Amino acid sequence: MVTAAADVTDVFVVGGGPAGLGAALAARARGLSVMLADSAHPPIDKACGEGLMPAGVTALGRLGVPIGQLRTCAFDGIRFIEDEIVAEARFPGARGLGIRRTDLHRALAQAAAERGVITRWGSRVEAIDDGGVRVDGKKIACRWIIGADGHNSQVREWIGIRTPARARRRAGLRQHFRVRPWSDLVEVYWHPLGQAYVTPVGSEEVCVAVTGARRTVRISDLAQVFPALAKRLEGASAASAVRGGISTSVRLRSVTKGRVALIGDASGSADSITGDGVSIALRQSFALADAIAQDDPRHYQRAHAKILLMPLIMGRLLVLVGEHRRLRARVLAALASRPRIFARLLAVHAGAASPAEIGLDTIAALGWRILAARAPVRRAS
Ligand SMILES: Cc1cc2nc3c(=O)[nH]c(=O)nc-3n(C[C@H](O)[C@H](O)[C@H](O)COP(=O)(O)OP(=O)(O)OC[C@H]3O[C@@H](n4cnc5c(N)ncnc54)[C@H](O)[C@@H]3O)c2cc1C
Repeated sequence: MVTAAADVTDVFVVGGGPAGLGAALAARARGLSVMLADSAHPPIDKACGEGLMPAGVTALGRLGVPIGQLRTCAFDGIRFIEDEIVAEARFPGARGLGIRRTDLHRALAQAAAERGVITRWGSRVEAIDDGGVRVDGKKIACRWIIGADGHNSQVREWIGIRTPARARRRAGLRQHFRVRPWSDLVEVYWHPLGQAYVTPVGSEEVCVAVTGARRTVRISDLAQVFPALAKRLEGASAASAVRGGISTSVRLRSVTKGRVALIGDASGSADSITGDGVSIALRQSFALADAIAQDDPRHYQRAHAKILLMPLIMGRLLVLVGEHRRLRARVLAALASRPRIFARLLAVHAGAASPAEIGLDTIAALGWRILAARAPVRRAS
């Protein structure tokens, strides 16, 4: 069903990644006509850890994106590993989902086409103004513009919203390996140079993403930097080329200007170590569709701030921990010795419990364990 005329639509979405497609689907569910343009063609690939948190899985279901037929692998929680320290926690109830980025994109794009979103793949949006956007040399008139054009957002620039000069940026790489997943948890391996996350994405495949602050650990360095992980991957052949990306922790002062709204990485983001980017974007899409239906940008501004707050805090804490070896050893040791505290923190991170439910007793107990933990000291590598 196509509801927009060729050059007029209620909503125009700039960018067709997970955020843009999520926003388009949520707006269509509100009965709005939607047009979307992306300069690339589906399925669009991107460096990503490819783990969808439980809240993201729920959001996909709410958007009506069928994932039952796709090659995926469910996971039940997180395991942190550094040397001999292993700390793990499971989600309460719902499961996360490992899914190849291209498969996720294909499913979202197909759902958008089926719901009547008019898609212009291979079309770059050149400019926007009050009443519309310019794409392929033509003006499309619209009431609302959604900037879903990623962390280097031009829409953000066009409406004059600046990113803070000191926004945290970390480099990331990802590659797939053909091997049977050895765990039903996403594993995060820690090292002074960065982290490696392993997400099961199929019955015979894992996605390995590596992020670092000062310099990126190359995938070919895995054996030196993450020997325990390299051992797991011994004999496994690469199932994709290495792809690089940037992970940022950014909070913007505003995510709307008039009837232009930013979503996904364009609207600020939590570090990729949270594994939350896609879930955040999908959750934002409902809030934005509500705001458009009510014609109230402030509704989205408030909801957006709420959705991004906890992932940002969590991302900043994890990056801080990653950068300080002694603190990291103490925190990991404390989480390992108090799995129930780790499980409570993970429940909040997964959206299954509110931050208020962490409780002062938990914070005090964790603080005490961190102070009391014997942090194994090892020589610099
Ligand atoms: C190393 C790494 C690991 C990560 N791991 C995870 C993880 O495990 N789980 C998770 O949920 N998230 C993860 N993330 C974060 C996640 O990848 C992002 O949050 C997510 O891709 C954001 O989606 P988006 O749609 O906002 O942006 P993007 O996916 O970047 O999409 C933006 C789109 O806009 C298009 N575009 C840009 N400009 C224009 C224009 N002018 N006209 C038309 N189109 C345009 C681009 O072609 C692109 O397709 C990770 C990120 C990194 C870097």
